[in-house]
Amino acid sequence: MHSILAVFAHPDDETSVGPMLARYACEGHAVYLASVTSGQKGVRPDFGLAAGEELGAVREEELRCACRQLGIQEPFLLRFQDQGIAAPAVIEQVAARLRELIDQTRAEVIVTWGPDGITGHPDHRAAGDIATLVFQQQRLLRHTPRKLYYVALPESRLAEMPDTLGRNRTFYPVSDAFITTQVDCREHVEAGRRAVECHKSQWSPERMVQMKEMSRRVFGGQAFLRLALRSTPPPDGRETCILEGLD
Ligand SMILES: [Zn+2]
Repeated sequence: MHSILAVFAHPDDETSVGPMLARYACEGHAVYLASVTSGQKGVRPDFGLAAGEELGAVREEELRCACRQLGIQEPFLLRFQDQGIAAPAVIEQVAARLRELIDQTRAEVIVTWGPDGITGHPDHRAAGDIATLVFQQQRLLRHTPRKLYYVALPESRLAEMPDTLGRNRTFYPVSDAFITTQVDCREHVEAGRRAVECHKSQWSPERMVQMKEMSRRVFGGQAFLRLALRSTPPPDGRETCILEGLD
């Protein structure tokens, strides 16, 4: 059994790799998710909640729901402020919490946002930057993770997204040449869909239908990642599993 820790910025970020997290949990691995903020500013105007702690509490419950649907462990809620984690004064506080979580979960694999954050959101970039910093500063960890991955949207897949499904929104895809790892999680797409439906404060029923269709068209039951850092042997070609090379 291996231990995997996903580190994201907001409740609902995990939907980017939901089926993959479900797959590894289903295979018997320990899969943990940390959300650095509670998404306290993620206002959907027609949902009826203003930005603030009440919205954050609703979103925390939505994330617990999503984790249950994915079959992974209860989320770690770090409760930093939405849109506030890129602030210099906060970065070291977040890093300290991540170090605690890595030691606590004995995570071997960390999955987080890359420099693109897929949408370019500053919180996404900051969460990924901080997780990377923590991974690199191994002297500060009692337990050292072995592999660090960035979630990626390959250019070739974005090209499959019809305009009607939101292709005109801001996305930051990466060149396919950067994709090191493609994980087949088709058997867990349904769990991923149920997890998406937990985030009712974020997406209207119509938008959820669009998102599921977008996920089907763009990702087709696959997760695409970049192996950013590792202490495992070099992969032999493109990986099909994030646990490759672990003892
Ligand atoms: Zn987000």
